[in-house]
Amino acid sequence: MRFGETRLHVDPGPGALVRALTHVPPCNPRELDAIVLSHKHLDHSGDVNALIEAMTAGGFRRRGTVLAPEDAFDGEPVVLPYAQRFPESIVRLQASAGPYRVGDVDVRTSLAHVHASQTYGLHFEYHGLRVAYLPCGRFFEGLVDDYARHAPDVLVINVLRYRDDLSVDHLKWDEARRIVEGVRPKVAVFQHFGTKMLDADPKRLAQEVEDDFGLRAIAAYDGLELDLDTEVAAVAG
Ligand SMILES: [Zn+2]
Ligand SMILES: [Zn+2]
Repeated sequence: MRFGETRLHVDPGPGALVRALTHVPPCNPRELDAIVLSHKHLDHSGDVNALIEAMTAGGFRRRGTVLAPEDAFDGEPVVLPYAQRFPESIVRLQASAGPYRVGDVDVRTSLAHVHASQTYGLHFEYHGLRVAYLPCGRFFEGLVDDYARHAPDVLVINVLRYRDDLSVDHLKWDEARRIVEGVRPKVAVFQHFGTKMLDADPKRLAQEVEDDFGLRAIAAYDGLELDLDTEVAAVAG
């Protein structure tokens, strides 16, 4: 994500580094100000060490910040001990904490998500633009209140499952809808779809959310780029 001159890479899963470099124009990791993990699961952190190396020129240039829950650094760390020495600072995220300052951006955490590892949502604020990222986790009513309290302009929300009776630590579509209805962002972006969600046509589902709640709703796809200022302004206007 880029806010003015401040660049953050959030949840670099497998392939994140290659994608950043092959992007046109390239997203140069040496210009990153921070790498942020919502939680340590590999689909969100697989490239974190490679990205830290790239951000710090293989450790030769000590710079940047890595923010992640404690269990990403300790115990069975996904941020490997050698790579933990490369950034200028390491921030062990706590629930409902911050602001942590990264360049021109304030980063705050949500309450703890119900997920298999320590997981926190992220609230970014840059010159009055508020962007919330709601990562993986089981639905509970407290999510709605917590994210609503931060009044995000943009809510990015991970919804893995469409409709099934399995009890898992991920949101289903109707729960994601419920959160968007309660939080009322100007723009909602859905992502992190499982196969059943993809079969259910996320674009159509997002359109329903737009019609039902009168906000802008976007179903993300690989390679999607959004100019959030423009999206928010379009709704506000
Ligand atoms: Zn996870
Ligand atoms: Zn996930």
